[in-house]
Amino acid sequence: MIKPKVIKVKKDILHKNNELAATNRALLAKTGVVALNLVSSPGSGKTSLLEFTLTNLGRELKMAVIEGDQQTDNDARRIAATGVAVVQLNTQSACHLDAAMTKRAIDETDLDALDLLFIENVGNLVCPAGYDLGERMKIALLSVTEGEDKPAKYPKMFRNAEVMVITKIDLLPYLDFDMSACLDYAGRVNPDLKVFLLSTKTGEGCSAWLDFLRALVKEA
Ligand code: MG
Ligand code: ZN
Repeated sequence: MIKPKVIKVKKDILHKNNELAATNRALLAKTGVVALNLVSSPGSGKTSLLEFTLTNLGRELKMAVIEGDQQTDNDARRIAATGVAVVQLNTQSACHLDAAMTKRAIDETDLDALDLLFIENVGNLVCPAGYDLGERMKIALLSVTEGEDKPAKYPKMFRNAEVMVITKIDLLPYLDFDMSACLDYAGRVNPDLKVFLLSTKTGEGCSAWLDFLRALVKEA
């Protein structure tokens, strides 16, 4: 009898990823850097939130950004325009960042000179949820131009995130986005989820977000 070969690809990949993520986490902890993994659908405003944050905290905190996209360095150029160091990772066919890619970007970064490291993941609410990069926490963005039921449709992401940022709230008067339904869906998926509602265009709600980041750095 020939024994069939079973290849547990996904399990092995995730196991290897988790090992590398632990290495990243230890390195970040040793150097006192708070790493935040920003996840969302494409177009939810990750890069805009970063531009706003880097511009407004640039004098207080030392920050850097790792940009994940399948192609182009468009977002990295937007970040670089704020004067903050940025490493662009092009994932080509991959639809998420993994710990190995993150490690390569971290190696290009001077951690000793940093308080905060933002990792902008590839726009995708599915598999980035399953990949630990070694971050302090995942921060899930959801814009009011999207469906308010996304936390229910993509529960793994909103369960694995510690924070949800609802963006573009300046557009609420023009949309049918049901905020209370959204918060209800999110709360059912993850009762501990911390939520920010903001608009980087008007600045509404942004001071609470900036204070949250200041507190995270202070803690570390
Ligand atoms: Mg972006
Ligand atoms: Zn993927």
